[in-house]
Amino acid sequence: MSAIDARPEGTRVVPTIAELRAVIADERRGGATIAFVPTMGALHDGHLALVARARELADVVVVSIFVNPLQFGPGEDLDRYPRTLDADVAALSGLEVEVVFAPTAAEMYPDGQSSTRVVAGEVGALYEGASRPGHFDGMLTVVQKLFHIVAPDVAVFGQKDAQQVFLVRRMVRDLDLPVEIEVVPTVREGDGLALSSRNRFLDEDERRTALVLSEALAAAADSAADGVDEALAEAVAAFGDHDGAELDYFVIVDPATFLPVATDASGPALALVAARVGATRLIDNRLIELG
Ligand code: AMP
Repeated sequence: MSAIDARPEGTRVVPTIAELRAVIADERRGGATIAFVPTMGALHDGHLALVARARELADVVVVSIFVNPLQFGPGEDLDRYPRTLDADVAALSGLEVEVVFAPTAAEMYPDGQSSTRVVAGEVGALYEGASRPGHFDGMLTVVQKLFHIVAPDVAVFGQKDAQQVFLVRRMVRDLDLPVEIEVVPTVREGDGLALSSRNRFLDEDERRTALVLSEALAAAADSAADGVDEALAEAVAAFGDHDGAELDYFVIVDPATFLPVATDASGPALALVAARVGATRLIDNRLIELG
């Protein structure tokens, strides 16, 4: 059997960069446009919403599944991060995905770690970057590599990771990358919990506790008309209602700069939250309207 696995549905699972490039070159020769969805696998309906959007945007859809060691710090959950390739490929069946790129870490980083990195800069050191030093350099480095390998016309990301979206857009602008960035709204459970590959780590109690993130964002949205201080106070108060959730940060940022808004700011702003529930770190965000 060839290393390029032809599935009945027509999805090819491609494990190497050379094969992926050959497949892409072939599609390009036929005049196809390409939409790309980078993921770390353990696919859920949030990922599938990105894939559905990608399907609308181009002739060929490429989904990458790669748990990128470069964006995990020491002591983070790289080892326990779920790896479920067969289930992921099955989840994509029916969505008309032409190619799944699923390289090993050795394929992506033959020298162990790449010594050349993309540097995320000032905003990359804030919020998620403050809690996870080096995370965004690692993320941008792999996204840059994937953009070079896949050479897509458009790449689709989730609003769930708002700081990631901001930094990817800025990298595209700063480095003149010839790719359009498309963003899909956060997909949630009926009770408000944002879908995440890490939700599967939550036990029943923790699953209930995890609602504190969306509740804090709702509290901020509801009180945003009264100003930044009030919105922050209400959001932090929501954490008082839940034992077992440890707030990491709750900030309100200017969507244009991703820097914290001034206390007298008004208009649209983005509320960002991160918290630890048991051993699991979760993030969420919501657009709010400051009064
Ligand atoms: P990940 O596999 O966690 O790296 O996520 C891959 C892509 O899926 C990123 O662009 C995420 O922002 C996006 N994503 C993750 N969760 C959701 C969600 N609940 N709704 C929409 N997009 C999501």
